[in-house]
Amino acid sequence: MRRPREAVDFDQLEAWYPPAPEYFETAWLDDPDTIEAKQLERLQARAQVAAKVPFFADRWQAAGFDPGSISTLDDLARAPSYTVDDIRRSIEANPPLGNYQGVSPSDAAHEPMRVYMSGGTTGRSRPTLYTAWDREAGALLTARALYLQGIRPGDVVLNAWAYSTHNGAHIMDEALYKWLNCIVITTGTGNVTSSRKQVELALEYGAKAILTTGDYLLHLADVAQEMGVDPTDLGLTALPNIGDVEKLEATFGVPVLDSYGFHEVQWVSVECPEKDGLHIFEDAYVVQIVDVETGELLPDGEQGAVCITELYKTGSPQFRYNIMDLSSLRPREQCACGSWLRKMAPFAGRGDNMVKLRGVNIWPEALGEIVTDVPGTTDDWFVRAYRDGNRDEVLVTVVGEPGVDREALQTSVEHALKERVGVRIGASIAGVGELDALTGFGTAAKLVRFVDERQT
Ligand SMILES: [Zn+2]
Repeated sequence: MRRPREAVDFDQLEAWYPPAPEYFETAWLDDPDTIEAKQLERLQARAQVAAKVPFFADRWQAAGFDPGSISTLDDLARAPSYTVDDIRRSIEANPPLGNYQGVSPSDAAHEPMRVYMSGGTTGRSRPTLYTAWDREAGALLTARALYLQGIRPGDVVLNAWAYSTHNGAHIMDEALYKWLNCIVITTGTGNVTSSRKQVELALEYGAKAILTTGDYLLHLADVAQEMGVDPTDLGLTALPNIGDVEKLEATFGVPVLDSYGFHEVQWVSVECPEKDGLHIFEDAYVVQIVDVETGELLPDGEQGAVCITELYKTGSPQFRYNIMDLSSLRPREQCACGSWLRKMAPFAGRGDNMVKLRGVNIWPEALGEIVTDVPGTTDDWFVRAYRDGNRDEVLVTVVGEPGVDREALQTSVEHALKERVGVRIGASIAGVGELDALTGFGTAAKLVRFVDERQT
């Protein structure tokens, strides 16, 4: 049995993936040739490892892809991509772990391992086994993002994400504790530690950041105000919270830098202070953008689904995973911050939430943006897709400001939708708090903004 210090060669890990803060003086500033040479070398090694995993071996054989044939980064596009549906099928055929894991629970006899799951509201959840190396590397990458977003060694940080079977709260905890020397107060969500208590703890301990959704953080600002505390007096110095950037910045007086990551691959990219796209940690990932429907590679600048290959794991590989999050890629160029790392656009919604309404592709997140721009609305919204007879319909509900003329507001919202989307979309106006049961506001870590009732 190997102890943690034997399971991970920390000198090697830090040489390959420099941690913050030194990362920003080293690999962050690599020239294009160095970036791509590292990527190619790591990609070739990852292909050899993934080839031993049945999920990849089967798919690659069927597609005629030879893992030994990668001689340029462009060759990656020849490997077949896969989506969550393929993973789901793999789990159904080989429950509970599927055949895409590169390690098995029995390997834990030799080194510390963890399992986390994503999804699970419908169907089986998708598990990923993480080796000790994968945990450390994932935490190191997450810490890079948190550092750029303003968290510093010695800071007290509230972690208000849900500590559950999901990776999210845990990888942030590990990043803060192991790679940023922060004191973590593990409050969990509002279900576990009341919002009032979260505000009290933040004040008592002088917390510098509260990790949670932007929406829940704004809710905590309201709670603070009810307690007679101005949100700026909470003393937060970092806002690693994803949500309404303008509102967060105005409420707390601190800049918000966006970041992107997900369960299986952990932290992928972060915005630099130029606030002009998210730099990808290219020593650990190759990001491609593919067509949502065909899976074909898209040219730079076009919006499509994010397809990720990680370059750092030792456990369960992710090799051309089409996660169906929407974004676009920038051509490689030097940023004013000095970095040549390629940039991706901020998360623009889910590709698989797409609703085709009378021939027009519609994403709920885009509708949310349109309706909350209409004067008289708040930033709380919900989209429902349903069948009416034999056609698809979408209803957008948005919460109006207290005392607003609902009928007039409904007309302006419908008008804005028609003008921006091009097809008629129904709207309704709700009162403050009326959508909470649908969105999980104040209780869930990740707000639900969309329900598709067409299949039920
Ligand atoms: Zn930059």
